[in-house]
Amino acid sequence: MNIKKSWEYSTAPESVDHIILNDKYDLFINGKFVPSKSGNYFDTINPATENRIAKVSDANNRDVDIAVLSARDSYEKIWSKMEAKERGKYIYRIARLLQERAREFSIIESMDGGKPIRESRDVDIPLAVAHFFYYAGWADKLEYAFPGRSPKSLGVIGQIIPWNFPLLMAAWKIAPALATGNTLVLKPAETTPLTAMKLAEIIQEAELPPGVVNIVTGGGETGKLIVEHPGIDKIAFTGSTEVGKYIMNALSGSKKKYTLELGGKAANIIFEDAAIDQAVEGIVNSIFFNQGHVCCAGSRLYIQEGVSDNIIEKLKTRIGTLNIGNPLDKNTDIGAINSKMQLKKIEMYTKLGKKDGGSIYQPVCKLPQKGFWYAPTLFTDVSQSNRIVQDEIFGPVLAIQTFRTVDEVISKANNTPYGLSGGIWTDKGSKIFKVSKEIRAGVIWANTFNKFDPASPFGGYKESGVGSEGGVEGLHGYVNLE
Ligand code: NAP
Ligand code: MG
Repeated sequence: MNIKKSWEYSTAPESVDHIILNDKYDLFINGKFVPSKSGNYFDTINPATENRIAKVSDANNRDVDIAVLSARDSYEKIWSKMEAKERGKYIYRIARLLQERAREFSIIESMDGGKPIRESRDVDIPLAVAHFFYYAGWADKLEYAFPGRSPKSLGVIGQIIPWNFPLLMAAWKIAPALATGNTLVLKPAETTPLTAMKLAEIIQEAELPPGVVNIVTGGGETGKLIVEHPGIDKIAFTGSTEVGKYIMNALSGSKKKYTLELGGKAANIIFEDAAIDQAVEGIVNSIFFNQGHVCCAGSRLYIQEGVSDNIIEKLKTRIGTLNIGNPLDKNTDIGAINSKMQLKKIEMYTKLGKKDGGSIYQPVCKLPQKGFWYAPTLFTDVSQSNRIVQDEIFGPVLAIQTFRTVDEVISKANNTPYGLSGGIWTDKGSKIFKVSKEIRAGVIWANTFNKFDPASPFGGYKESGVGSEGGVEGLHGYVNLE
């Protein structure tokens, strides 16, 4: 079906003239940018154009060794001995410098990862800044976070993050680790290392003591070297459940602690008494903005039978009006898929969905010639056992089912190995309380979706993870309590 848009926007792309990017980025170790010992580099590309943005150092075992040693040295000699309020000042300084350069960071985030500038400008970068401010405040107040206990830092933390919220995930990891007196070695994802390297510039400018934060770039192999390094006291990982399981196995029997923030397959539940138009907008926000590259995306939709035809029609109309294209355009709703590999995965799942008997709907839309793109996609006639209902696709693909009763939808929503998030749309507070209590997920939003605040914890049940990030709870993973 071709739904004609009632209007067209003129394009309004962000200017990139003021963006300064190097041709190549080296590792950030002991306060300096240094090439990897192998001398090897990999490319980071712009997924909207497939053009190379920069070459990035590929860290090997010797690089990881040096990074861990420098983190250990600065932990023992400087950071763990520093007065807590002084540590807090450094974190505030990072927060302020980042805030001043928010526009530049938003543009680089969208260039390197493909997400719409509206998302990086309004969500990723402000939230990353907010996390640094929030945890800076805790640095000298830890005795209030753990009343009657005596929190002690762990030592050197290894941190590994994914490509969907590159700078935000770096902030989630770095800010609480520093506030609690730890030093760290962080590895960003191979496809989105640039904002982490720009953050390294800010860390240098803030004059953080050398070795407190080390950033090593590379692929999964570099991540493995961090996980297995004997000089690391704790692994903080955000990424897929598959790699999370490998990390749990690799660390079993070792003394290393770990926190894991993993995948999700959130149920978004619409009751007949919900404000229908708001709910439709909430569905679109929960899965289609940011290309569905969101761990907590509402990728399973459950609609109460009486309103399902109406909602599905409204959804079809609405996704026909979404703007897909240049991530740097302020009107863009759906940007580029982060990588060719991710695009192939989405295509594989939609094929599987059709093979399993699902009915697919995609609006007619013109996708750019170059780059990696995927149209917003609805699947109906699917059942609980279908792979597109069970597996995390991490793309703009929504699996829709209907339900009759509250108990039925609770059991359907819980029928998943994941438990990261969920959404409820209803006019009745009692339903909100019942459903949110009985669904096993870390976050349940009511009549809204994807709302974040540094003061509120985020973490998953079941295969969605171990431990939480954000809030006071986010400090727990970085201290020993005596
Ligand atoms: P991923 O493939 O698991 O990768 C995550 C990070 O781990 C990347 O830096 C990756 O490096 C690295 N890595 C890969 N193999 C490794 C290994 N064997 N040992 C150590 N590190 C390894 O996940 P992704 O595709 O980047 O990210 C998407 C996933 O993240 C989704 O499942 C999503 O739900 C999850 N996520 C969860 C949360 C949360 O808060 N729960 C937040 C955001 C994302 P390379 O990328 O360079 O290979
Ligand atoms: Mg890239």
